[in-house]
Amino acid sequence: MSDDQRILDGSRVAAAIRAEVAAAVAELAARAVVPRLDAVLVGGDPASEVYVGSKARTSAELGMRSETHRLPAATRQDELEALVDRLNADPEVDGILVQLPLPRQLDTAAILRRVDPAKDVDGFHPMNVGLLQQNRPALRPCTPAGIMELLEREGIALAGRRAVVVGRSDIVGKPMAVMLLHAHATVTICHSRTRDLAAVTREAEVLIAAAGVCALIGPEHVAEGAVVVDVGMHRVGDRETAKASRITPVPGGVGPLTIAMLMANTLAAAKARRDL
Ligand code: NAD
Repeated sequence: MSDDQRILDGSRVAAAIRAEVAAAVAELAARAVVPRLDAVLVGGDPASEVYVGSKARTSAELGMRSETHRLPAATRQDELEALVDRLNADPEVDGILVQLPLPRQLDTAAILRRVDPAKDVDGFHPMNVGLLQQNRPALRPCTPAGIMELLEREGIALAGRRAVVVGRSDIVGKPMAVMLLHAHATVTICHSRTRDLAAVTREAEVLIAAAGVCALIGPEHVAEGAVVVDVGMHRVGDRETAKASRITPVPGGVGPLTIAMLMANTLAAAKARRDL
């Protein structure tokens, strides 16, 4: 297989998802429905500014509306909750995204619980987490949902195969493992207390690296012929790429998929709220 064929092209799959969302949004526009995504940004974290900016830009490109609500870093819990309540009650708003991380004085879990589950386009509300666990229709976390789309559209079989997820966060690792389980993979989750990480990850036919630790995954962690999805910047270099059969590039891997799935979730929320 050539290097080009080995790449699991997140950018290409994300573009396909965006095009599908844009087509569905155009159909809705004919019924005078324009989905709207509202982002809440507390404090001026530069990385969060970039993420929120690109979410707003992509919404506009796909024909959706978006608003960004900027609050100062010193915002109190009751002030943020009042904004979430207002967005929950606003019939114009289909999707609410509270950009994480929030400043320390704020109770993130309480805020995520406050978002109307029907507008929870990040899929972080306990109601949506529970529905995902039960494999019932729900708004699903965008990063793992995007990875599942990538694997499916690239024809990566999962049923009966050994999948290893490195990372157990609520945002990526845990929902990723649950989604792989529902796709009938045999799933192992590794985390910061896992002993002999390489011995476990070498068992993987599909390896999802989502630990947020640079250079965590080297050649000794990857089995010959494995499919590797790099959610952060985990690879040491190109040496282990030689062993993998299919691998995501960084950038151009998972990042664009996450935003594409956010758009798909906003569309889904807009339709579900109107029984369409
Ligand atoms: P997190 O910090 O919340 O969780 C990291 C997880 O990795 C923890 O469960 C921890 O136990 C595990 N871990 C830490 N060190 C480890 C080690 N040495 N060995 C094994 N496991 C270890 O991070 P997160 O929010 O889940 O994000 C994970 C990564 O994915 C980050 O690099 C983040 O930037 C990236 N990410 C990318 C996107 C995207 O769209 N591209 C979206 C979300 C997250």
